[in-house]
Amino acid sequence: MLTLFGFALIASAIALGSGSDAPDNHMDFGPSNPFYAPSSLPFHAPPFDKIKDGDYQPAIEAGMRQQRAEMQAIAGDPAPPTFENTIVAMEKTGELFNRAMAAFDGVTGANLNPELQKVKEVEAPKLAAHQDAIFLDSRLFRRVATIYQQRDSLKLDAESLRLVEFYYKKFVHSGANLSDSEKAELKKLNEEESTLSNAFTTKVLAATKEAVYVVAEKGPLAGLSDAQISAAALAAKERKLNGYVVPLQNTTQQPDLVALSDRSTRQALFESSWNRAERGGPNDTRDTIARLAEIRSHKAKLLGYPNYAAWKMEDQMAKTPETALKFMDALVPGATAKAATEARDIQAVIDAQPSGFPLQPWDWNYYAERVRKEKYDLDEAQIKPYFELNNVLQNGVFYAASQLYGLTFKERSDIPVYHRDVRVFEVFDAGGGPLALFYCDYFKRDNKNGGAWMSNFVDQSRLLGNLPVVYNVANFSPPAPGQPALLTFRDVTTMFHEFGHALHGMLANTQYPSLSGTAVARDFVEFPSQFNEHWASDPAVFSHYARHYETGATMPAELAAKIKAAQTFNQGYALTELLAAAQLDLQWHLLPADAPMQKPDTFETQALQKTHLALESVPPRYRSSYFSHIWGGSYGAGYYAYLWSEMLDDDAFQWFEDHGGLTRANGDRLRRMVLSRGNTEDLAKMYAAWLGAEPSVEPMLKYRGLAPSGGAK
Ligand SMILES: [Zn+2]
Repeated sequence: MLTLFGFALIASAIALGSGSDAPDNHMDFGPSNPFYAPSSLPFHAPPFDKIKDGDYQPAIEAGMRQQRAEMQAIAGDPAPPTFENTIVAMEKTGELFNRAMAAFDGVTGANLNPELQKVKEVEAPKLAAHQDAIFLDSRLFRRVATIYQQRDSLKLDAESLRLVEFYYKKFVHSGANLSDSEKAELKKLNEEESTLSNAFTTKVLAATKEAVYVVAEKGPLAGLSDAQISAAALAAKERKLNGYVVPLQNTTQQPDLVALSDRSTRQALFESSWNRAERGGPNDTRDTIARLAEIRSHKAKLLGYPNYAAWKMEDQMAKTPETALKFMDALVPGATAKAATEARDIQAVIDAQPSGFPLQPWDWNYYAERVRKEKYDLDEAQIKPYFELNNVLQNGVFYAASQLYGLTFKERSDIPVYHRDVRVFEVFDAGGGPLALFYCDYFKRDNKNGGAWMSNFVDQSRLLGNLPVVYNVANFSPPAPGQPALLTFRDVTTMFHEFGHALHGMLANTQYPSLSGTAVARDFVEFPSQFNEHWASDPAVFSHYARHYETGATMPAELAAKIKAAQTFNQGYALTELLAAAQLDLQWHLLPADAPMQKPDTFETQALQKTHLALESVPPRYRSSYFSHIWGGSYGAGYYAYLWSEMLDDDAFQWFEDHGGLTRANGDRLRRMVLSRGNTEDLAKMYAAWLGAEPSVEPMLKYRGLAPSGGAK
């Protein structure tokens, strides 16, 4: 027994040596560092007015040392393991680490600079090693396993029982059952994976910045509005270039392709996007992703799974890749058939021109917009004046939350922020008590990651006495100086989406931080956000916020009806590009461990053919080489989750429609049974208990306009 114990200690000591303690030699960290003590600001908000770029690294390193020491104390506790002295004690570790990392993640995602970038690169493998040092520690695992085996006799409440299962499964999932030599191999793979994943993110950001469309004259930009042309001139000036620059968004299709009338400009902009990370040179990501896929397949083998997807999906609502594949396969025929119909409509418009040509991906959005105008007489320029950003936020996004959950919002100018674009609101609960802080950072910047997201600066936890501090980030086009920020309806939907995540974080009411708010499976986490999107077009909410920014007039009913009708427009394309991206992700992560290293371009072509998604004019929403979700983020083998969650949210919204829509009673029921509960129960059970049934795919097909004709009500 003693020998065994002694051996485990040495193994842990080795793990410590490979982590953060070795190279940094205790860089300066003391009371002058703003992370040293818990923030004294309201809600323990990060003191961005005091934090300097140089403060993050020493705080993160000290935080890792501190958490490691706390975990060692738990592992070495001579008392027999109990729920309190092991599981609850682990929940209380890492306070410094968590507050430094939360601020660091927020700032590096939304406001990166070269110094922080360097820190990110240096810390990435150390953070992976830090995780491993905890979850591959055999003494800790033995204590957790003992409690797990005794769990039924411990008389724990349901949330505590769930926490025991959570920790046990997390240890096993991380490789705690492996031999010491296998653990060593796994740690090496994890560190390399995190380094490469970080390198991928850096390259894609640089590639996206570099691959912009540049033009000296205004001529090729014909079709863009004066405001868009001014923005392009400003973008050029910011880069110290002459002429005009169209920056890239992170998806394959680019927003300006809707308006650009010069076909060669469209092709050039599209190709800039499509080839951004495949141009040779330092920002080409193909070697990086080929190796990442290989590492992941090796990890799967080591952990005893047929492929990475099987390992990764074990703790998801879908549970196996087969379930996800089956779900997607069922959507492919309807989606691609609808896309083919849409392509025929577009081709007809092209053929009616004096000189026709076969439809290409760079033509799709331009002509789809023409078809849309023809069918629905809908013009973005006509709509945007009704979607001024601040009005949408206050009278749309916040309004829906007040009607459903009784929340109120008050802007605060005294909370420090990391960039002047960021705004902060205090959120009050129905009774008037404090609930959360909400930050929003909506405009595109070159040093911001693409897309939109939500996260926490502080996680809600009754155990730690913390109320949530939550933020939303997006990449809406900034207005020209002195002009109002007018949004597309898609931007409006994005605001509602990210705020749905924010609600999941802000309404969290759990004891333990590990089970709080959005800390749920990836194929469940998009359910509250996508559910919240529905309110953007709900008549009761829409009529409240869709008002002209100059006159205050509500949107004419006729125009509003057109927007509603147009929502099912182009859904064949939209669903097909999503399915193609989700299948690319799954196919990469279904590679067996002994598969040779892949050539990304060939692999991609074959994967799309195999899954019947190789449509010439409908490219995947992300190409493998700039698919940040799966290589740079945590969505490897998880991109299907957006579609899976869509099944859940459409099903949920159908329930609301059947039960009176936008009411406090409906909102409070969802809050009580789902939104406040984080990961405190098996998610499939939680969902079924709320809905009173298993989720069904029918409402999804209905809202996408893909239901078999006559079948939908
Ligand atoms: Zn989301």
